[in-house]
This record gives sequence, structure tokens and C-alpha cells, in this order.
Amino acid sequence: MSYHRYHISCEKCADVIRRPNRFRVRVIRWRLARMLLHELFHSRFNLPVVTSRPCVYGTFSGPVGGFAPRPSQCVGCLRCTIEYPDMVRVCPNPERLGLGDSYFTPDKVDAVVQEAATGQIPVRGAGYRGAFGGEGWDGMWTDMSEIVRPTRDGIHGREFISTAVDLGERPGVLAFDPAGIPTAPLPRPFSLPIPMLFDAPPVLAEDPTLCRVLAEAAGRLQTLAILPLSRLLALGVGGSGVAPLVRPAEIEATARLAEAPALLELDGWDDGAYRELKRRFPVTPVYVRLPLERDPLLVARSGVRLFHLTADYHGRAAGGFVGGAIRRVHAALVKEGIREEAVLLGSGGIVAAADVAKAIVCGLDAVALDTVPLVALQGRLEGECRDRSTARIALPRIDQAWGVQRLCNLAGVWRDQLLEILGAMGLREVRRLRGEQGRAMFQADLEREAFADIAGFEG
Ligand code: SF4
Repeated sequence: MSYHRYHISCEKCADVIRRPNRFRVRVIRWRLARMLLHELFHSRFNLPVVTSRPCVYGTFSGPVGGFAPRPSQCVGCLRCTIEYPDMVRVCPNPERLGLGDSYFTPDKVDAVVQEAATGQIPVRGAGYRGAFGGEGWDGMWTDMSEIVRPTRDGIHGREFISTAVDLGERPGVLAFDPAGIPTAPLPRPFSLPIPMLFDAPPVLAEDPTLCRVLAEAAGRLQTLAILPLSRLLALGVGGSGVAPLVRPAEIEATARLAEAPALLELDGWDDGAYRELKRRFPVTPVYVRLPLERDPLLVARSGVRLFHLTADYHGRAAGGFVGGAIRRVHAALVKEGIREEAVLLGSGGIVAAADVAKAIVCGLDAVALDTVPLVALQGRLEGECRDRSTARIALPRIDQAWGVQRLCNLAGVWRDQLLEILGAMGLREVRRLRGEQGRAMFQADLEREAFADIAGFEG
């Protein structure tokens, strides 16, 4: 066995639907002509000087320069408008407002599509200009202290940071009889090289090609695509990258699986169905998929340790945001003394690379991506996409090889961003990030600490 460092191969994979530019760039041409004439005389006809325009991103580097700007190149740094305020206007492109929905905002859609197309982390020109706090994941910050900078080379490969996660069963104690024979279940190691799986797509978007793309991309990434059993059987899709999602009424149909899958997921809690699945697939980790509204402790008391906890696509769960719900479950499992035995997968509300790290800080072991893979494939959200049973996402005609590469690009870029975060936090493996809430700051907590004693504060 030779050692291979895990690597995701990214390559450019062009959009099949034109993506609206982020900005509109307007130039008042007669003023530009007047200025060029002035510069010609001033520089004594030094053309390289006259034709050098201020945009380093190439917006004014087309054949006729600023007379026909190329807004696709503009990153919104605003340098041109600052240097030539009476000549250039750069505004947000209103065409983009139709992308996404109220949670998966146009900026986030744009970032995901760009990541899938280029396989590179998006560059934003002028840095971050938004608010430093807000709803959902924006109300949480990871600790990137100067003091831990020495570990920050992981993304460049000089120093290895592991993104592998363990998703198998791990009993709290090992018990043996006097003859040394194990009397209790032994740990069944099962790891993935990245803490990201693909979740079952929305019911109304369960396109056969999409299912094949998810399965093949998961296989190539050495992770898993959770797909409904009925769909897998109908399409004849299988292989190492597939984790069947089984409804309790479908237990008999699992006999038609060609081989034991790497992982199984039971859709909802049913004691009898769970025991039967465990009996039929004794070495396969069997996860129980539960909405975060259900208390997993009640199910854990039946011996279940592997959970996939779901929020809706807008990250709402149990009357609040998914981050808080995960923290409560994590804390309850710690209090019960079984957190080290349990594995928590989670999905819902994760639409950016940083969300993965934040969800893990809150207490997840790994995340399952639901709407993001479809957006990476240039699926268009139709109206508000809130949950798996009602969300409508219109997909373009997908070429399978194109789709697989887009998802590999997305996973590669998100892994790189996770490495950046881990490096900046001084962590050498993502397993240590799980539940590490002391390394995060929560806006609500900070505001309460700072303002609780001030009359009128409503925390
Ligand atoms: S805003 Fe920045 S990126 Fe856009 S055209 Fe002006 S200089 Fe170029």
C-alpha cells in the first residue's frame, strides 16, 4: 500500500447558461475621448501611457479600450470611479436580482456558480464591504487569531491538514469475556476524506441524469451521495459513492441492492425498520434521518448513535436557526455522556464554504449539501425553495461529464476554503473542529455581554 495524499482535481468547466455580470460598467464616451486627446498631447503621443487604463482586471482592455468596456471582468473594486468620477459609473447589475431566493441570495448563487465553473476561490476585488454580523451563520465568527498563524500553509500543501472524518460506529467501551473474545460490538471504522456528502435532491428535481451525476461525482471524490432507494433501483445506479435513503416501508426492497452499500440512511425513526436494516446489513453504518424538531436523545436511548439531522433549506429548525439547534443537540449528547459514540451528519441552510466550518464548530461531524450541488449545475431556484418536498429547481440539460467536473470543482474549492479556516485557526484536522465552540464567537452572546445591563437592551 503506497500513501496518496488526498487531492481533488479541478479544471475549468464553462457555464452552459450565461451568468449575469455582477456589475454594469458605463463610460461617458465623449469625456473619455476628450481625456485621451488631452493625454496624447500631454504625453507627447506616448501611446502605451495613453492606452493604459486603471482597471487591472481588464475591463478596459478590449480592442477599443474604455469605449466598449467588458463588465464580465469587473470585480467592483471601484478604483475607476474614484479616479474618474465624472466619466465612469459602476453599479450592481439588476439582472442578478432574479437569482436564488431570500436565503440563497444572488451573491451566494454567484459564488457557487463561479466556484463550480473555475475550480478556484472567488476573488472579490475590494475585500468585504458588507455588515459584520447578521442573521443565521452571519451571527457567528470563527477565531482566526494571529497567535496560531504558523499552521496556515495547509492550502499550499507544505503542511498537511486533514479533512478526513470518521462516520462509522464507535462504541464507548470495549468488553471481552475471560477468553478475550469481544462480548460487545467492536468499532467499525468508516471514514471519508472530506466532511461533505451530497444530500438527496428535492423531490421535484429528482432527474435521472442528476442522480447519476451526484453518484459519479461522489465516487470520484471518495464521498457519498444520499439518494432515494427507489430511484437507485429504477436507474440501476450503484457503486461506492452511493448511500441509499430507505423509507421504513421499503425495507424489503433493499434485497434488490446488488451489493451492501457503504452507508445506509433510514428516512425517519422506526424501531422495527432500523433493527431489520441492521440485521440485513450488519457491517454497514445505518444512519437515522431526523428533522431537528425531533429530540434525537429519545432515539439515542434505543441504541442509535448515527444521525442525519435536517433543517429546511433556509436553515430553519425547531423555531430558530439551524446553528443553535445543532449546538443544543451537541450539548445534550455531551451531557448524556454519549457524544464520543455518536456521529452527527447535518443538512439545511449550508450554502457557502464558510457555513461548513461553522456547522462543524456548532457540533456536526459532517454536512450533506442539498441545494448547493444543483445551483453549481446552474439550476434556477423557482420561488422560495424551503424544503425537499416542495422546492422547485429548474435544471439545464446536463451532460454527465460536465456535471461531475462541476461538482468536483465545487468540492475542491470548498475544501480549500475549509483548509484556509483550519489553518488560520491553528487546527491540523477537521475532526478537532467538531463542537469547538470556544474557538468561535457568537454575535448574540457578545451583545448580551456588552449591553445586557443597559436599559432598553433586548437580547
Ligand atoms: S470597478 Fe474596479 S474592476 Fe470594475 S471596472 Fe472599475 S477598476 Fe475595473
